Amino acid sequence: MKPYSLWSLVRNGISYDKDWQQAWRSPEPKKHYDVVIIGGGGHGLATAYYLARECGVRNVAVIEKGWLGGGNTGRNTTIVRSNYLLDESAGIYEHAMKLWEGLSQELNYNVMFSQRGLLHLAHSVHDMQEIGRRGNAIHLNGIDSEFLNPQQIKKMLPIINLNCRYPVMGGLLQRRGGTARHDAVAWGYARGADDMGVDIIQNCAVEGFDIQNGEVKGVRTSKGLIGAGKVGCVVAGHSSVLAEMAGFRMPLESVPLQALVSEPVKPVIDCVVMSNGIHVYVSQSDKGELVVGAGSDAYISYSQRGSFDQIEHVVGPLVELFPLFSRLRMLRQWGGIVDVTTDRSPILSKTPVKNLFINCGWGTGGFKCTPGSGHLFAHSIAQGEMHEKAAPFSIDRFNTGALIDEGAAAAVAH
Ligand SMILES: Cc1cc2nc3c(=O)[nH]c(=O)nc-3n(C[C@H](O)[C@H](O)[C@H](O)COP(=O)(O)OP(=O)(O)OC[C@H]3O[C@@H](n4cnc5c(N)ncnc54)[C@H](O)[C@@H]3O)c2cc1C
Repeated sequence: MKPYSLWSLVRNGISYDKDWQQAWRSPEPKKHYDVVIIGGGGHGLATAYYLARECGVRNVAVIEKGWLGGGNTGRNTTIVRSNYLLDESAGIYEHAMKLWEGLSQELNYNVMFSQRGLLHLAHSVHDMQEIGRRGNAIHLNGIDSEFLNPQQIKKMLPIINLNCRYPVMGGLLQRRGGTARHDAVAWGYARGADDMGVDIIQNCAVEGFDIQNGEVKGVRTSKGLIGAGKVGCVVAGHSSVLAEMAGFRMPLESVPLQALVSEPVKPVIDCVVMSNGIHVYVSQSDKGELVVGAGSDAYISYSQRGSFDQIEHVVGPLVELFPLFSRLRMLRQWGGIVDVTTDRSPILSKTPVKNLFINCGWGTGGFKCTPGSGHLFAHSIAQGEMHEKAAPFSIDRFNTGALIDEGAAAAVAH
C-alpha cells in the first residue's frame, strides 16, 4: 500500500480525489485462519495489527458484525490518560500512552493524538485526599502528574467558575493526557493490518463457537463456519453474550453509557476537564464542538441511545462549572454499551475454553488503552500465555480476590 504523504495529497488533489486507494479490502472469509479476532473495534483491530506486525502471525481475520468502529470505539469521548492508582494499571495504561505518542507515525495515519492536558477537579476534602493519594502513587510509578491550586486552575481555565455549589479546591493535572480521533484509530489500525494480509470481514456476526473436547476450533458466523487455531474475543458490551455462546459466564454488567456534543464554537477550553465530585467531563474537539461525557444508566440494558435524565444530570454540573456554556445548543446525544467489572479494571485473560482468549471489561474507559490492550493481547495470543503486564488482569482474580480496584480513578465515566 502506498504511504500517505504530502505528495500523495497533492497528486490526488490534482486528480479530484478520484484515485485514492481503498484503505482496506473486503474479502470473503477463508475456511481457516490461525487466529480469528471477534470484534472490529479499536481493541480488536489493534490486536490483529500487532499480531501481524510484531508476532509474525498474518493468517488472521477480524470478524465484525456491523461496521468498523461502530461500537464503543466510534461512540466514546476520546479521552486518553494514564493516571491510575495501582501499579498493575500503571503498567498497562502507561504502556498504551507510550504507544499513543508514536502511533500516527507508526500507522502512517493521523490519529490526531493531542496531548493537551487533562485536569481532574477536587471539590471536597475527600476529593483532595483521593487526588493526593493517587497523584503520589502516579509519581512513584514514574508517570507525570501535578497538583494545581485554585489560582493555577483559574489561570489555565479563565472561564471556569471556581465558586460553584461545591467549590473547586484543587486539581490533578496530567499534561501528557488528552484526546485522539476515535474513528481514525480504528481506520489506521485496519489499514495497517490489511496491508499485512489480515482479512477484515464486516457485516458478519459470530453466532456460536465450534468447540471440541474443550478446545475452540472455529466460529459459527452469519457467513458460515470459519475454522480457527486460536480465537480472541474483543466485543466490549457484548462479552457476556459471546461467553454464554462458549459455555461460561463473565463477571460483567453491560450498561449504556451516554455522551452529548454541542454546536461548534471558537476555542474556549484547551485541556480536558473532569470532575468526579459533581460528575461531568468536557473537552473541545478540533471542530470546536464541546464533547460532554454523561453517566451510565442505572440498569442493565443493550439499548444504544441517549435519554433525557442523563442530559439533565450532566448539563447541570457543566453549567455550574462553566456558566458561559448555558448559551450553547446541544446537537447530538448517544449511548454505547459498556461492560463493567466490580473493580473497574479490564479483563485480559485465557478462558475455560482452550485457545479462546478474552479482552473486555474496559467499562467506561477503554479507548485510552486501545494501543496497549491490542499490543499485550496480541503477544498473549501468539505465545499462548498472558503477557506479564496483562497477567494480573486475568479472569481468575474474581475467584482469588486479587482485585485491582480502580473505582476512584474511574469514578467519572471516561
Ligand atoms: C459514551 C461513551 C464514552 C466513552 N468515553 C471514553 C473516553 O473518553 N475514554 C476512554 O478511554 N474510553 C471511553 N469509553 C469506553 C471506550 O469506548 C471502550 O472501552 C472502548 O472503545 C472499547 O473498545 P473495543 O474495541 O473493545 O469495543 P468496541 O469498539 O465496542 O468494539 C467491539 C465490536 O464487537 C462487535 N461485536 C459485538 N458482538 C459481535 C458478534 N457477535 N460478532 C461480531 N462482532 C461483534 C461490535 O459490533 C463492535 O464493533 C466510552 C464509552 C462510551 C460508550
